Amino acid sequence: MTEVIDGNAVAQTIRDSLGGAIDTLDDAGVTPGLATVLMSDDPASETYVSMKQRDCEEVGINGIHVELDTHAPAQELYDTIDDLNADPDVNGILVQMPVVDQVDTRRVLRSVAPEKDVDGFHPENVGRMVAGNARFKPCTPHGIQKLLEHSGVETEGAEAVVVGRSDIVGKPMANLLIQKAPLGNATTTVCHSRTKDLAAHTRNADIVIAAAGVPELVDGSMLKEGATVIDVGVNRVDADTEKGYELVGDVEYESAKEVAGKITPVPGGVGPMTRAMLLWNTVKAASEQTGVAVDLD
Ligand code: NAD
Repeated sequence: MTEVIDGNAVAQTIRDSLGGAIDTLDDAGVTPGLATVLMSDDPASETYVSMKQRDCEEVGINGIHVELDTHAPAQELYDTIDDLNADPDVNGILVQMPVVDQVDTRRVLRSVAPEKDVDGFHPENVGRMVAGNARFKPCTPHGIQKLLEHSGVETEGAEAVVVGRSDIVGKPMANLLIQKAPLGNATTTVCHSRTKDLAAHTRNADIVIAAAGVPELVDGSMLKEGATVIDVGVNRVDADTEKGYELVGDVEYESAKEVAGKITPVPGGVGPMTRAMLLWNTVKAASEQTGVAVDLD
């Protein structure tokens, strides 16, 4: 029987587990604060940011939202980041990507104070993660590690294939999987758009993590019997629905489910975990900035 990994349920467990830490901070007079910054009129980005704000409210994190005019000069965004860096009530800063064209994305990533960079994208934090001394693990790969842990998937010695090499998912995922650390120690292959024979790699894998942004790229014929399949993809494809589209993953779910031992659905797999780990990183940031020790595992 294939086990469907319920990301909503695991994310709820993570959120519940943050309660104790948030209470400890509260007893010391600290309310963790997360600032989200939006400078885009992409409807998906607007939805993501409002979901993140709602999550904050639910767990007792103070959500602060800053929305900038999409026609404003880039300097307004850089100044906003400086202000948030200096604000002691703000422990975490998330600039929703992608930002408008006039903004230099690399400058944004460099500008967020590393200790408030709850996305884990600042070069200092990327370096620390690669060196095995992560301050903040990027939310999506961190959430996937938690999903694997909660589902009892052994990474040590496993053959893992990561499909995709982006800075936000593929690269950090592969990095975490090769760390000599719990939830690492996997023999890891990274496939990408220039990989010659994707199926030859995925067929050997005990764990496949698909993050290519290509609808239903990986199907059942490309998988080993019993493999764990983590589908990161969120792709809009035209469909005869009220909205005119539906969301599909990077995995062809029906055929993959016939072969996989464990599989995540889309939606309800990786997405809720990404959001939960943002809260987790924000609580960690608040603890480290205030020196109030909390229990986070
Ligand atoms: P990206 O476009 O930045 O990177 C995609 C990667 O896939 C590239 O490195 C590319 O080399 C590789 N790729 C493209 N076509 C390929 C092919 N045919 N074979 C093998 N590799 C191929 O995307 P991203 O930001 O990493 O996101 C990937 C997907 O995950 C998207 O659908 C995105 O919406 C989704 N996503 C979901 C979450 C979540 O929380 N659920 C978070 C981030 C991204």
